[in-house]
Amino acid sequence: MQFSLTEHNMKTFLYALRGMGIDSYVTDRMSGLTLPILQKTVKVCYKCPLAETRKNIVFGEGSSNAKLVFIGEAPGEEEDIQGRPFVGKAGKLLDQLIEHIGLKRESVYICNVLKCRPPNNRDPDKKEIAACKNYLFSQLDLIKPKIICTLGRHAYNTLFDVDERITKVRGIAKDYRGMILLPTYHPSFLLRNQDKIKEAWEDMERLKQLLKG
Ligand code: URA
Ligand code: SF4
Repeated sequence: MQFSLTEHNMKTFLYALRGMGIDSYVTDRMSGLTLPILQKTVKVCYKCPLAETRKNIVFGEGSSNAKLVFIGEAPGEEEDIQGRPFVGKAGKLLDQLIEHIGLKRESVYICNVLKCRPPNNRDPDKKEIAACKNYLFSQLDLIKPKIICTLGRHAYNTLFDVDERITKVRGIAKDYRGMILLPTYHPSFLLRNQDKIKEAWEDMERLKQLLKG
């Protein structure tokens, strides 16, 4: 049988490569990828051992045209059950931070570095991040927000491929591939360290200004 290189064949081939763990921006750009297609791929992802313990993947949610994207760490217990990001206690605080900017949750986009829950909410490990991070990169590539707000050290360190402490980088806006990136504290950290809330409010004020500018 002759194999002809149609767009459909190409897409099928690229998705098969993805399934084997081979993915890159090049394949995304060539394949007419959309958020719903990417979500379907993530739903059947077994690239790291978290696939065995997850109840649901937590892909991310919000507007595909969002000007502002929040990136957390990984799903917790409630997120794993519901398949939605930031729906537990930390999520309530994130909702308040978003309201403070004068936005609604539905008008921003919210996702995490890892799409599956690490058991007992332990920190993501390096291999899990390496396996999962291209999904996040593709989400950003597809949404192309004006501003990214990373929550906690994992999101920041994953995007810049560094190992910084959040206290060192928080509140300092940087360029990230043509987008503005503002790192702030993770809401779970804020719940445990209420003395830092004032700085988080300041970061939200900053986001408000950046969105206007
Ligand atoms: N913490 C995160 O980092 N992400 C969630 O979705 C929930 C809690
Ligand atoms: Fe795949 Fe990411 Fe889930 Fe690991 S955490 S199984 S890489 S979607």
